[in-house]
Amino acid sequence: MDTTPSVIDLSMAITEDMRVYPGMAVPSVHQLKRHEIQGIQVSKLEIIVHAGTHVDAPRHVLADGQTIDRLDLDQLTGEAVLIDLSSLAPGSVIEQRHLVEYDSHIHRGDIVVLYTGYQRCPDVEKYCYLAVEGARWLAEDKGVKCLAGDIPSVDPINKQANVSSTTHPSHHILLNAGVPIVECLANLDQLPPGRFFFCCFPLNIVGSEGAPARAVAMNCLSRLNVPAGMEGSSS
Ligand SMILES: [Zn+2]
Repeated sequence: MDTTPSVIDLSMAITEDMRVYPGMAVPSVHQLKRHEIQGIQVSKLEIIVHAGTHVDAPRHVLADGQTIDRLDLDQLTGEAVLIDLSSLAPGSVIEQRHLVEYDSHIHRGDIVVLYTGYQRCPDVEKYCYLAVEGARWLAEDKGVKCLAGDIPSVDPINKQANVSSTTHPSHHILLNAGVPIVECLANLDQLPPGRFFFCCFPLNIVGSEGAPARAVAMNCLSRLNVPAGMEGSSS
């Protein structure tokens, strides 16, 4: 019997001591009303929209780009393929050749999910980032509809490469091609191998370049893809 849960939460927990991008302020969660005093609990959350699991919309790097409230949720929902890069050393460049190994598994319109193991890495600055050629291959050659991953950015911070943090080349390639980016996914090590159904719903913040999101994997595709005549033979 398949004991894999049908819904796997891929979102980071939001706390005041959560891991955030180097130099970014952590969220604050403040109770405006408390049971002991007002007999009810009401909380206020203050958060940079790029803290924790979140979506980058084209507006993030393009002054006239689409904002998060205008994104089609179809782009953040659908069949996904996990690219296992967990054998790369922390801080490595994700090259096109690492992605091309999965060429036959990545279909047009897929959501590609990069698993690097960053959430386990003790050094917050040592995340793997996407080479420009890799971003171009995914967005232009493969026609993926969304790029997601456990990394906090698809571009390096200054210390990692001779690339200015103000240029964000891989963000530009993806977002210019209309490919939203989901960053800081958690629990990717819990995903069964193969394809899965991915859902990510960013908060509907009008005019924002990004938003915190709840992302989940649904382990239903392996059942949906059972060859005809074999339905019901498992589970
Ligand atoms: Zn972001």
